[in-house]
Amino acid sequence: MGANARQSVVDSHCQVHNAKGLFVIDGSTTPTSLGVNPQVTILAIAEKSAEWIAENFEAVAN
Ligand SMILES: Cc1cc2nc3c(=O)[nH]c(=O)nc-3n(C[C@H](O)[C@H](O)[C@H](O)COP(=O)(O)OP(=O)(O)OC[C@H]3O[C@@H](n4cnc5c(N)ncnc54)[C@H](O)[C@@H]3O)c2cc1C
Repeated sequence: MGANARQSVVDSHCQVHNAKGLFVIDGSTTPTSLGVNPQVTILAIAEKSAEWIAENFEAVAN
């Protein structure tokens, strides 16, 4: 995850760079092992991304 399309696959909303409407929302967006149990972090990122999709649905879907 990151702002730079050359260095990351998805942006801060888990949307794939240059592929509007395609989201990757799971543990794969963490670049390395977190070192602690990851489930709550993954759920929190998923919830934030879902909220953003809901708020921007028209722009994402069209
Ligand atoms: C034994 C074990 C114990 C764990 N204990 C903890 C813990 O105590 N605390 C903690 O925080 N974390 C724990 N974790 C880690 C945590 O479960 C994972 O990091 C987290 O579930 C990853 O979420 P995810 O959405 O990326 O993947 P997953 O939860 O694995 O979800 C992937 C989903 O994609 C589906 N899927 C796969 N392939 C396809 C396909 N081709 N088409 C459609 N669907 C598909 C699968 O059925 C699954 O529902 C544990 C993991 C394991 C294995």
